[in-house]
Amino acid sequence: MSSLAFPLADPARRVADADREAIRAAPGFGQHFTDFMAHAQWREGEGWGSDEVIPFGPLQLSPAAAVLHYAQEIFEGLKAFRHEDGTVWTFRPEKNAERLQRSARRLALPELPTEDFIASLRAVVQADEPWVPSPAGEQSLYLRPFMFASEEFLGVRAAHGVDYYVIASPAGAYFPRGIQPLVVWISDSYARAGAGGTGAAKCGGNYASSMLGKKEAQANGADEVLFLDSETHTAIDELSGMNVVVITKDGRLQTPALTGSILEGVTRDSILQLAADRGLAPSEDRLVMSEVLDRIASGDIVEMFACGTAAVINPIGEFRSAVGSWTIGDGGPGEVTMSLREELTGIQYGRIEDRHGWLT
Ligand code: PMP
Repeated sequence: MSSLAFPLADPARRVADADREAIRAAPGFGQHFTDFMAHAQWREGEGWGSDEVIPFGPLQLSPAAAVLHYAQEIFEGLKAFRHEDGTVWTFRPEKNAERLQRSARRLALPELPTEDFIASLRAVVQADEPWVPSPAGEQSLYLRPFMFASEEFLGVRAAHGVDYYVIASPAGAYFPRGIQPLVVWISDSYARAGAGGTGAAKCGGNYASSMLGKKEAQANGADEVLFLDSETHTAIDELSGMNVVVITKDGRLQTPALTGSILEGVTRDSILQLAADRGLAPSEDRLVMSEVLDRIASGDIVEMFACGTAAVINPIGEFRSAVGSWTIGDGGPGEVTMSLREELTGIQYGRIEDRHGWLT
């Protein structure tokens, strides 16, 4: 086990104070980046080292770097939240560390120990502390750890040289005009991930394979795309970047089971816990799309939402496909959906007691 410290080599800032404050006032999502980034290298036979915090800036990469050809790459996404008292907290970062380790195993990349992952986050958040927005308006600092095969080699095998970085980006509310129920397109042409494939890993390739489905969704006036399982093309997997949850008329919460082709979301896991705390009898099931549409039509399903780090919890108002459209409930944000959202963001921003010890 290595133990990395990620020292800050040079504290000089890249972005002027006034420019940073202007960005912080209207950060958007994923558009602006902070002063610093964490970096470490892994070499076959040597392990992890060269850990440091350096100025955010372009990477030097050989055009023959394996990642550019074979997509041996994984990433994570989590947020740092500022509380009213000025302190800064991350939400369940050890879950992201463990998921990065699972992704690393699947993509034949080296595992980064949990304590080193958390040290890298801590180093970036400390160096970039002025970038962490105020808690007003659900702002946060989005952290993006990622790891890729940097070795200059075109042979097809697991790379012997790997780089790890953490970059950070101030994030505003995902939906600046408030919560708007999503229109979700049911993709019947494309699957995101296949049995035995990389669906449960957070690797760039899964997102590359989702882009065309997302484009098709947008061409049909939808916000998001829903992928079905690739084997039978009948069961709900997930959206391109969020898990899916159902609320029934009799107050139960259901979400697709982890079959190996969907991502095990930290938000999903937290919602299952909050739902159990409330007696919503959460269950992880095989949710057949045609049955879900029938249950929406019959009124058995009264709310649905999408969940993930970026959007937290967002209601789904309508499903659309090549053959029809289905409005969930009255199409507006559901009561259970919004109250789970309020509870989760309350814990993240320190307004509600962190009874599960989720904040670091
Ligand atoms: N599914 C996919 C495909 C995702 O990209 C994400 C976002 N990481 C999620 C689900 C939700 O995961 P989390 O709650 O950990 O952000």
